[in-house]
Amino acid sequence: MYLSSVNERPPTLRQTNIERLARGEFEVLVLGGGINGAVAAAALSARGAKVALIDRGDYASVTSQASSNLAWGGIKYLESYELGLVRKLCRARNKLIRAYPSTVQEMRFYTAHARGFRHGRWKLWLGAWLYWMIGSFFTRGPRLLSLEDIEREEPIINCEGLDGGFEYSDAYLHDNDARFVWGFIRSALDRGCSTANYVESLGASRAGGVWTTRARDVISGAELAIRSRVVINACGPFADRQNSISGVRTRHRHVFSKGIHILVDRLTPHRRVLTFFADDGRLFFVIPMGLKTCIGTTDTRVEQPEVEVTPEDRRFVLDNINKRLRLPRPLGEADIIAERCGVRPLAVEDGSAGSRDWMQLSRKHEVETDAALAHVTIFGGKLTDCLNVGEEICAEVRRLGVTLPFADRLWYGEPAESREEYFHQARLMGLDEMTSPQSSEKLSTRLWRRYGAVALGLLEAIRRDPRMADVIIETSEYIRCELDEAARREMIVKLDDFLRRRSKISLVVRREEIRRAAGLREACRILFGDEADAKIAEYFGEGRAAAKSA
Ligand SMILES: Cc1cc2nc3c(=O)[nH]c(=O)nc-3n(C[C@H](O)[C@H](O)[C@H](O)COP(=O)(O)OP(=O)(O)OC[C@H]3O[C@@H](n4cnc5c(N)ncnc54)[C@H](O)[C@@H]3O)c2cc1C
Repeated sequence: MYLSSVNERPPTLRQTNIERLARGEFEVLVLGGGINGAVAAAALSARGAKVALIDRGDYASVTSQASSNLAWGGIKYLESYELGLVRKLCRARNKLIRAYPSTVQEMRFYTAHARGFRHGRWKLWLGAWLYWMIGSFFTRGPRLLSLEDIEREEPIINCEGLDGGFEYSDAYLHDNDARFVWGFIRSALDRGCSTANYVESLGASRAGGVWTTRARDVISGAELAIRSRVVINACGPFADRQNSISGVRTRHRHVFSKGIHILVDRLTPHRRVLTFFADDGRLFFVIPMGLKTCIGTTDTRVEQPEVEVTPEDRRFVLDNINKRLRLPRPLGEADIIAERCGVRPLAVEDGSAGSRDWMQLSRKHEVETDAALAHVTIFGGKLTDCLNVGEEICAEVRRLGVTLPFADRLWYGEPAESREEYFHQARLMGLDEMTSPQSSEKLSTRLWRRYGAVALGLLEAIRRDPRMADVIIETSEYIRCELDEAARREMIVKLDDFLRRRSKISLVVRREEIRRAAGLREACRILFGDEADAKIAEYFGEGRAAAKSA
């Protein structure tokens, strides 16, 4: 038995899942719980396969928490004439907007054009029309902006050197990338998937048609062996290392492009993305995030996937934004509330790395299957393309001989049938009147977006005890019943999992404010019981590591 037999508290969701991982034999084991692993597990579980998934850190704690939060059709790939890729990504974006109307929402990209830029304003304007057409006219159409329009509508933009601009549509993830990934993990769990975070694969070997993956519970140090017919390597930037320790050879491999974002207090009240061309010619965004603003990103070739924000990265972002905005005073390091940093894992065919211009290197994903080994690796990709990855993985797994009893079942999307009932009940009980004055949106909207049909249970909890709607950590929007929900069903092992990925508190509240927040200890007691103080100490004692992920 994996668990100690003397256990005063009932076992946690994670503990029971680790036991199941050690005991069971699975049709498919997914390594890595970023977006690609999460959709693979959600799709396969919904279609009836017996699935397991492990991640050596928290879910979405690597690349999938460092993105720009955009579901976008890749307008910039028009420049390299990758029309097929743009078409595919636009369709993927449209599918996400349709499936997740409260999470993936259309957003206007308000683009400033500098005189003398390598492409003229009219050419880019035509590009925006082409983009709209390639995207099946799904969003609102583009709009040409004169200098007067920009000065009137977005006076924060420094118009010196500009000759106007244009506006087009893409979409953005309302809550943030890591929470979006969690939705797929939760849905896999709901369909019987056995999964645990902080369980690391130490490599897999195959004998008699069965893979045995040696794994280690990073928290307790205990080792376990997980048996499966098929292994899917979704380790993102670490996929090559994982294949190498398991002796799997592939045609593709990764090269890495580092990108950072910084978060500052809200710069403009308008809900749109301000878009510029940075000094290196790349698109550069000012993205709304609740009551804060997220600015970035960078694109630096690096050799290793382990990265952190350097003073040069910070300088690049601050210099670029200070040049392009008219602010009462320039933004400096003291204005930074939090930072995001990661590498884009870019798929290249072995032997071809660097043969193309770095900036032009394609961002499309590749799913590579070794049929003889029953092994699949997911290379590269974008959050935007995640529903396609889920479908492709189902097709590959079937090809490897796994039967999917519900092969046509829809595995993603908001539960539209519960929506009407939820909003009706919320109205009847006056839920929105309980919204905290600091909140950036109505309580009913936020609970639905984050919990879907499960939000009906939260309404019941609030009806039973209205204190369940109290905000616990001041300056955050989180209410008591959400913390209960998180403690029971969201596999939170460390405080960072909650503050950074299940919620986005540590992205929008300064670290010192979180430390001083009156309700922090109470929140931690709900999440961790007797271990509350230890978890708080661990979070604030983690120094650079925690600061980096915050
Ligand atoms: C700066 C930046 C901006 C971006 N912006 C966008 C955007 O706006 N829109 C968009 O669509 N895409 C964007 N992307 C791309 C997108 O974020 C990535 O393509 C995507 O997150 C990759 O997901 P993944 O699941 O492949 O990898 P990851 O999210 O890195 O997941 C891999 C997981 O594997 C786990 N793992 C590694 N080794 C092991 C092991 N031995 N055992 C168990 N688990 C292991 C890791 O802990 C990790 O959680 C951006 C990327 C970056 C870096």
